Amino acid sequence: MIRKKVLVTGGAGFVGSQLCERLLNDGHEVVCLDNYFTGQKANIVHLIDNPYFELIRHDVTMPFFIEVDEIYNLACPASPIHYQYNAIKTMKTSVMGAINMLGLAKRIKAKILQASTSEVYGDPQVHPQVESYWGHVNPIGERSCYDEGKRAAETLFMSYHNQNKVRIKIIRIFNTYGPKMHPHDGRVVSNFIMQALQNEDITIYGDGQQTRSFQYVDDLIEGMIRMMASREDFIGPVNIGNPNEFTILELANKVIELTNSKSKIIRMPLPSDDPTQRQPNIELAKKELDWTPKIQLEEGLIKTIAYFDALIKS
Ligand code: NAD
Ligand code: UDP
Repeated sequence: MIRKKVLVTGGAGFVGSQLCERLLNDGHEVVCLDNYFTGQKANIVHLIDNPYFELIRHDVTMPFFIEVDEIYNLACPASPIHYQYNAIKTMKTSVMGAINMLGLAKRIKAKILQASTSEVYGDPQVHPQVESYWGHVNPIGERSCYDEGKRAAETLFMSYHNQNKVRIKIIRIFNTYGPKMHPHDGRVVSNFIMQALQNEDITIYGDGQQTRSFQYVDDLIEGMIRMMASREDFIGPVNIGNPNEFTILELANKVIELTNSKSKIIRMPLPSDDPTQRQPNIELAKKELDWTPKIQLEEGLIKTIAYFDALIKS
């Protein structure tokens, strides 16, 4: 195999840290770049002694120069509470981060993959969501800094590809969970597991009938690696997610059952523009990447519960 030098922005985050580990295990040299807004050193501290791993504190809104073969652009807070904390910064991270990383890719002729999101479909009126669907996004709502930032980043990727022949790959990631999520990340799976393990109330926003399709992180990492290695003229966007759809109430009951918890379910107000349904159509990923998710919800939840249980006990 050829050892590649790979840059992972957002490499200290939940997905980024697992990607760094996978790339090192595959024999590559990894540069992890992060500003630690939502990422943590704890996620990558075990990699620091590896001579092929390098850690750099940097903010993607500022230009960055390095020589690498491939770039995975993941830098961006992903949990609604964190991306809404500083909406302007979120938009800057998506847009200026994309410009800086695409400029770098252009200059050094690297291949670059963008971690886009199912949020580009907004509150979708087409179900399940196919890549050809343009979406239904409120441009001035609470989620817009993230949704529109990620949409603008996709535009920039396509423009650098069309105008400057930059080698790009775009994946649209659907709700992903697993070990190394921050315990106070605020997303639904980590919230419910942390609450259940501590016998605290499980907070359902709204009536719990809204749906999501949950993907275990290992399946996402496999999809990312396959997309980066896919034929040169396949640039996406391609959905990477698990099509098994659940209501949030079903998820809460499943977590209570698997943790044997005494927690009660309580209702909290539904945040505005919260998508009512979400499910990926993954036919394109199956065809182009020969990829399907392997880990279903119960198996993935059991692994994630074990991770948070150990974290609480430590
Ligand atoms: P995360 O919050 O754990 O990771 C994001 C990382 O980016 C963190 O380490 C954070 O410190 C870093 N970061 C944020 N702003 C930065 C900046 N300006 N400069 C440098 N680093 C910065 O979230 P995650 O779940 O690991 O998400 C990773 C990527 O995947 C994000 O781009 C996210 O939008 C995308 N994504 C994730 C999901 C999911 O369900 N996990 C779904 C769709 C898209
Ligand atoms: N949610 C919930 N309780 C929580 C956290 C989230 O009911 O403690 C709901 C949220 O309103 C949304 C769904 O779970 O309908 C998924 O939320 P998350 O923040 O994980 O991701 P996103 O909305 O971005 O898909």
